[in-house]
Amino acid sequence: MPKLKMWILLLVTGFVGMNAAAAQQADYPSSGVPMSLQQVGEHSYYVQGEAGIATDNAGFISNAGFVVTPKGVVVFDGLGSPSLGWQLRQLIRDVTDLPVVKVVVSHYHADHIYGLQVFKDEGAQIVAPAGALEYLQSTAAAERLEERRFSLDPWVNEQTRLVTPDQIIDTSTTFTLGGVEFRVDYLGAAHSDGDLTLYVVDDRVLYSGDIIFEGRVAYLGDADTAHWLEALEAMQTANLAALVPGHGPVARRPNEALAQTRSYLSYIRQVMGEAVENMDEFADAYEAADWSAFEALPAFEAANRRNAYQVFLSMEAASVGQ
Ligand SMILES: [Zn+2]
Repeated sequence: MPKLKMWILLLVTGFVGMNAAAAQQADYPSSGVPMSLQQVGEHSYYVQGEAGIATDNAGFISNAGFVVTPKGVVVFDGLGSPSLGWQLRQLIRDVTDLPVVKVVVSHYHADHIYGLQVFKDEGAQIVAPAGALEYLQSTAAAERLEERRFSLDPWVNEQTRLVTPDQIIDTSTTFTLGGVEFRVDYLGAAHSDGDLTLYVVDDRVLYSGDIIFEGRVAYLGDADTAHWLEALEAMQTANLAALVPGHGPVARRPNEALAQTRSYLSYIRQVMGEAVENMDEFADAYEAADWSAFEALPAFEAANRRNAYQVFLSMEAASVGQ
């Protein structure tokens, strides 16, 4: 529809009394990508992003979850655009009329936070790991948003804003809402400058964020892989009914999902650590490595070489610093 006509239509519907939901919908252009709900516990749900790079599928590449309690809804992560956040909000409405009272954010990376404003505007409290404020003040955050306004146009646009958290978590903590018990574990800098997980005690469901990637190669970005590995080793997954990763399908065998991310990280660190120690060139070490355990995984082509290079550089810097 031509823009002018659309505006006239909006104006007319406005005059005949547009309800609040419809008014907000106009602010969030439809992503056009399907999003469906999966229940993973008595109170716990999630939506699964598609495998792909950050700007595929209108940016729907990460997961988000939510937990319905008798006193309101707790959301986990905000997806990669306000449009996707709004789409998730509508799916929650299919389950309950209760408001979203809290959003727990696993980490401040673009694919998990650009939908937060939908929930903030509803009055939800935004809870984020320490490290989020530093990210928000960084030029990287501003540049990323500018880039996504271009690469995810029209879903990320001039109205898209970075949401400052209302509460910062820097130590593991618990809370109860409507009789449902939650535990938030703060992991420190691992996948990002600060990561946390949300555990729904009643359902034995863990929302892990990007600490665990299921069925695809992890995105290392500027991760602290040494600390990330430590965090994975400390994680208790034996009694989980389900683990919802930051990307990929829910894991009903959480130990296997954990093992997959862990073996990927430790292999990269082993290969690149040896290269640094022997003062080998990165390209030679990369070519010589045996990637066969991982190369069939989605995102391998897009992510693996970059991941390996990041680990090489960080281990080289660490060895020089010693
Ligand atoms: Zn992510």
